[in-house]
Amino acid sequence: MPVRYGFIGLGHLGRHLAANLVRGGFDVVVFDLSRSAADAVVAAGAHWAESVAALAGSCDGVITCLPSPAATAAVLDLALPAMRRGSTWIEMSTNDFAEVESLAARAQQLGIATLACPVTGGVHRAEAGDITVLVGGAAEIFAVHAPALEAMGGRVIHLGGIEQAAVTKVVTNMLAFIHLIAAGEALMLCAKAGVDLRAAYEAIAASSGNSFVHETESQVILNGSYDIGFTMDLACKDAGFAVEFGRRFGVPLRLAGVMEQTFIEGRARYGGAAWSSMIVKLLEDSVGTQLRAPGFPARLGADGG
Ligand code: NAD
Repeated sequence: MPVRYGFIGLGHLGRHLAANLVRGGFDVVVFDLSRSAADAVVAAGAHWAESVAALAGSCDGVITCLPSPAATAAVLDLALPAMRRGSTWIEMSTNDFAEVESLAARAQQLGIATLACPVTGGVHRAEAGDITVLVGGAAEIFAVHAPALEAMGGRVIHLGGIEQAAVTKVVTNMLAFIHLIAAGEALMLCAKAGVDLRAAYEAIAASSGNSFVHETESQVILNGSYDIGFTMDLACKDAGFAVEFGRRFGVPLRLAGVMEQTFIEGRARYGGAAWSSMIVKLLEDSVGTQLRAPGFPARLGADGG
């Protein structure tokens, strides 16, 4: 069983996945463009690497959790030449399958295997060690790294190859973003009808119209923090993947098209670093009513609320 993992990209999501690996008893070495992003995981027992190459040369598995295809490609340019033959690159970013497949082909020429392991469930579930891991890659490579993936997440689901895992991941975000816009519209109708929004939240959560997004993101919207740990930039990236995959596969995605344009507007209005839940603020601003109710948390806890 590989014991040493390198983890690159310690942002809102990656820092929790890396910390879970440490907690799972693995030897973990970490790198990020920002040294301070590593503070908590280093305090928990991870080792800091001075460079991508120094990290890559010392590990059985190199894990990336990065904000864009360009960042992953730049890191792999540095990592692949330094990685050991027989080691594995594990891409946990949400990325285009064609991009990951092309990097995987380069890795294979160097005797390095690839797994695409994007995750879904949100930062609060990553923090709780309960995020869902979607796996794409050869079964024998998955078997080697399954203990590490189980340490990082909750359910670990093997979907086939890189393409199947990457497309399924994008589909989960496509649904979540559509649900988010829909939850905002639903709560706004209730607000305009004079329904107490705490009661409206509970009624929807107990109804046939409930969704995971309503149960989680509606809480930080009703609090007014909007803090879901996921930015407009990342939402636009993933909405773009969904629409692009629809184009590639010839599948009309009407709702995803509207959803993507809405997120482009949200990013233009509030900035790329704004939380993606602020998409609901577009509606709040346009009708002049804020969706607020007492008793909701500013941030979702590891228990989901
Ligand atoms: P983030 O922007 O918070 O963090 C990205 C980290 O990567 C930052 O710390 C940044 O400094 C680092 N980085 C960027 N370029 C780098 C480089 N060249 N070398 C080293 N480090 C570099 O993003 P995040 O929210 O942690 O998301 C990471 C990935 O996971 C994204 O692909 C995102 O779509 C996906 N994801 C995020 C969530 C979430 O809830 N945040 C959930 C599922 C999937």
